[in-house]
Amino acid sequence: MRVVVQNDKFRARLQRVALRSGLAALACAAVVSGCSAPGTDPGSGGAPGRQPGRGGPDRPTDPRARLAAEHERLVAATRRWDLDQVPLTPPAPPAVKPRITPRDGFEVDGQREENLPPVFTTVPTRQKVVFLTIDDGDNKDPDFLRMMSDLKVPYSAFLSNYLVKNDYGYFRRMQSEGHTLNNHTLTHPYLPGLSYEEQKDEICGMQAVMKKQFGKAPTVFRPPYGDYNGDTLRAAKSCGIRYAPIWDEEVFVDHWEYRDDDRSLHPGDIVLTHFRGRNDWNGTMVDDMRRFLNKVTRDGYAVARLEDYL
Ligand SMILES: [Zn+2]
Repeated sequence: MRVVVQNDKFRARLQRVALRSGLAALACAAVVSGCSAPGTDPGSGGAPGRQPGRGGPDRPTDPRARLAAEHERLVAATRRWDLDQVPLTPPAPPAVKPRITPRDGFEVDGQREENLPPVFTTVPTRQKVVFLTIDDGDNKDPDFLRMMSDLKVPYSAFLSNYLVKNDYGYFRRMQSEGHTLNNHTLTHPYLPGLSYEEQKDEICGMQAVMKKQFGKAPTVFRPPYGDYNGDTLRAAKSCGIRYAPIWDEEVFVDHWEYRDDDRSLHPGDIVLTHFRGRNDWNGTMVDDMRRFLNKVTRDGYAVARLEDYL
């Protein structure tokens, strides 16, 4: 397969960032190709990872060499997982978190007065980032863990206990690699069909499981099917939940679905997929992630960590 060069805008941004931080060679090192002419590199004028006049060959302690080596590693991972392009590197987490408000039309009565967790599909940001969220927890494919850690793609898992309880260890591995585990109820019911107390049992019950199994109760919760009412958000708040993200796009192994008529990604969009395998659809989690990453990269988006923006 062929690894395609990142888009020009991204390359320009990388070069700006690199110059600002005095790492001119990174601008070349961090893209697959396309800026190899020494004249474009006002820093060292040398190949990435080398420091002419400062000792010659690569030194593992040199930050530029480390960055170049890391990029080479990423290019190899891109080939190994058969992606079209190297995934774009997300910007640093925002120093000032955006103010998250409910999506228009997704508020409940008392939303503002009771300071209920907002239901939203997009994080307000101008950065070309999207957030990957993966629900339920049925399929537990070790290749998926390997792929995402190889490619350094962050994601948030929304777990429902009845599907994850046969292998909490799988999700602990995720957590140990820096991914976030969030609440998706004990048994995945249609919450608006339940009383306040029943909803509270579903949400607070899952908080307790997560605290016990994963060491902490999350502040982020997603109602199953994206369905909720005022009681859902009230119950969630009482269990320590602060945010109720749903999604703007959903990716399946063989197609995408869009909430908005323009059928395209927007900065800050939350993308949903599910832990599914060949029993559920015509492919593996790896195939699903390949579809996801190929599109977001092609459209110029990096995948960032949702919780960094909350
Ligand atoms: Zn679900």
